[in-house]
Amino acid sequence: MEKENGDQQEAIEFEMKTVEAERARLMDDETIKKVAALFGEDAVRVVEVLKGVQEIVDIDIADKTQIRLNMVRKTLYSLYDHSIVALRQSRDKETGWFIFNWRLEPDQLAGFIQNQKRRVLEKLEIRLEFEKNHAFYTCQTLGCKRFTFEDAFSLLFKCPTCNKPMMHINNDWIVKILTKKIEQIKVP
Ligand SMILES: [Zn+2]
Repeated sequence: MEKENGDQQEAIEFEMKTVEAERARLMDDETIKKVAALFGEDAVRVVEVLKGVQEIVDIDIADKTQIRLNMVRKTLYSLYDHSIVALRQSRDKETGWFIFNWRLEPDQLAGFIQNQKRRVLEKLEIRLEFEKNHAFYTCQTLGCKRFTFEDAFSLLFKCPTCNKPMMHINNDWIVKILTKKIEQIKVP
């Protein structure tokens, strides 16, 4: 009876692992590209390997990616910091040493990317509002700053860097670029 329960438990665990592995495989290239942007190219290769397996040890990842073991570990730790990978500790039957088995947490990864997206979006939207709600003045000299009307007014429209008079400049192009960027990010 106990044996049967054990078998059942094992079957359920196997089922769960299969579901997880399947979900990882379904992770699209877009997601992978975002990993690259956030964690670098090494992370992409590590994630690609993790995608194809249930669990793997760091040495095998180094083998498959041809990335140096210490770099693989560094990448794994930074992914682990964001809960994108998880690890299971087991013991080597012969040596008695600990083995760290790494696996991908695809849902965490998706959530993490969503969060990043939201953060970037917030920043862009604040910037867009700022651009829309202000008029800007500059002396047109390369390297000199742009000032809002309020600041330019208090400087009597004279550039504090080069002393030249400041003129109104059109920022429609910035508004256009920001609007476009925001639309692009909003696309799921
Ligand atoms: Zn100037």
